[in-house]
Amino acid sequence: MSLTNPSVVRALLARHKIRLRKRWGQNFLIDAHVLEKIVSFAQINSDDTVLEIGAGIGTLTQKLAERAARVIAVEIDARLIPLLREHLRAHSHTEILCQDFLEFDLKSLPSQTKVVGNLPYYITAPILEKLIEAHKHLHSALVMVQLEVAEKLSALVGTRDASAITVFAQAFADVEYLTKVSKHCFFPKPEVDSALVRLGFLRQPRFQAPEDLFFKVVRASFNLRRKTLLQALSQSPWLALPRDSVRAALEKAAIDPQRRGETLSLEEFDRLAQQIDAVVRTKL
Ligand code: SAM
Repeated sequence: MSLTNPSVVRALLARHKIRLRKRWGQNFLIDAHVLEKIVSFAQINSDDTVLEIGAGIGTLTQKLAERAARVIAVEIDARLIPLLREHLRAHSHTEILCQDFLEFDLKSLPSQTKVVGNLPYYITAPILEKLIEAHKHLHSALVMVQLEVAEKLSALVGTRDASAITVFAQAFADVEYLTKVSKHCFFPKPEVDSALVRLGFLRQPRFQAPEDLFFKVVRASFNLRRKTLLQALSQSPWLALPRDSVRAALEKAAIDPQRRGETLSLEEFDRLAQQIDAVVRTKL
């Protein structure tokens, strides 16, 4: 049965009396060429463990299972589980979990797990943050995201196109924008185009500051984008620091307090987070 054939998918869903839910981002891939691209970009070897986010009816899961040693497929919609089981019957090394991915414990995975997912777009940001936070356990993440998100992830840090997620992704991973994917490659057709992006997680992040503080400083710098760094950081509930302490940290990091967060390079974010760490320590 070809799951990339829209007539087959339509008939299958009708037979199981399933109406797809927009709010769960249920747009299934129906382009065999794109499917092959995903599998090839994910660089799966026969000894790999692969985690798939949002398995749907198993279109991509089948392809992953043909290559990997073990596949863990997470899908929130209980109605799709019988279809998934049926489509993965020949692949006993596939575990199908009916679960919200945001609740999934990534630390339970073997190290160097490869993540693959045609993501449900309504929770793209929390999924990416969860993956980045679990970087130590993961080898890479090959994700289909909305085109704008792909552009944001691969934007140059220090330019207006960047945001907090750009800095987080590039601090922990090599980010590759791979290819645009037209909305016509999905059933039902979504309103937006998509793109494939690969995050290859680094053994060591590209900064020295304590991780939690680096996250807080980046988040605070972009949270009030129109304000100067001095204003944005001293008004941040995540840092909870007096204005004078923020000014001192900025000066020690040799960063003009009047600059905006979006102009900082990754190296400057690191310097700033290290100086803020020093301020926080002297207050303890
Ligand atoms: N992998 C399939 C494909 O490529 O055709 C389906 C991809 S579809 C864009 C996203 C899938 O994620 C849907 O099957 C949806 O039910 C599932 N999903 C939505 N929210 C989820 C969540 N919080 N946790 C796990 N799966 C979720």
